[in-house]
Amino acid sequence: MNNAPYVGRFAPTPSGLLHFGSLIAALASWLDARAVGGRWLLRMEDTDPPREMPGARDAILRTLEGYGLTWDGEVVMQSQRHGAYAEVVERLFNMGLAYACTCSRKQLEGYGGLYPGFCRNAGHAREGAAIRLRVPELTYRFEDRVQGQFSQHLGRELGDFVIQRRDGLYAYQLAVVLDDAWQGVTDVVRGADLLDNTPRQLYLQELLGFSQPRYLHIPLIVQPDGHKLGKSYRSPPLQAEQATPLLLRALRALGQTVEADLHTASANEVLDIARQRWQAASIPRRPTMAEADLQ
Ligand code: GLU
Ligand code: ZN
Repeated sequence: MNNAPYVGRFAPTPSGLLHFGSLIAALASWLDARAVGGRWLLRMEDTDPPREMPGARDAILRTLEGYGLTWDGEVVMQSQRHGAYAEVVERLFNMGLAYACTCSRKQLEGYGGLYPGFCRNAGHAREGAAIRLRVPELTYRFEDRVQGQFSQHLGRELGDFVIQRRDGLYAYQLAVVLDDAWQGVTDVVRGADLLDNTPRQLYLQELLGFSQPRYLHIPLIVQPDGHKLGKSYRSPPLQAEQATPLLLRALRALGQTVEADLHTASANEVLDIARQRWQAASIPRRPTMAEADLQ
């Protein structure tokens, strides 16, 4: 793996404001980096303008600042990286590793998210088609620092996946792998909802000759009914004046010991102590946590 100095990142999507679930991910990632004197980068995953919420990018940056979660260097905007994505899609297509898919959503209904391979050998032209990456009939596995062993058979459990949509927008899987490599990220800390995206990313890294970062997937905060926080189930956007109590709550959710007298401390003081005490090994080893169970 990787002996390079630690580089972490937080990669919010500006489709909405930060909520408590995003705070836990940002905090875990920031602490894991800062505890070892590492760098912490910020990347705006704005690859899907139709789903973007106006004003969300700036609001996210202001919220992170207000909570003391400061980043190093310039914010990378994925909307500025289309040239790099296009070049890789072109290369994979020309090598026959990816192909054009003209299937409609309707045609793919009833396959449980597993692409049935209709266009695999059809030789469609690229124009107006989605681009899919061929997956090998292999299991990809990795050791997550919190969730343990995770594996997925790409052919049987997923099938060929989209790297560029029919409308030309680039898929998260492609952008995240290219940018993590380009930014020199050594450690990915994010929510466990992305655990089952990781094997696809491992395959892309292998294909493109990138080194594999370490992974730490924190438990996903869910509603009592089991739904993930966000969209219609989103908990309220983070308020600046709630920084200290919500940071303390997020630390408890991450299994960190928190002294009772910290409730009058500033966000920066809380972060400074938490950074010195950070124990990634204390994060609950489970994929989800109910919001209602958090103190
Ligand atoms: N943009 C993704 C999100 O907001 C995170 C992607 C990642 O950390 O790899 O959920
Ligand atoms: Zn197809």
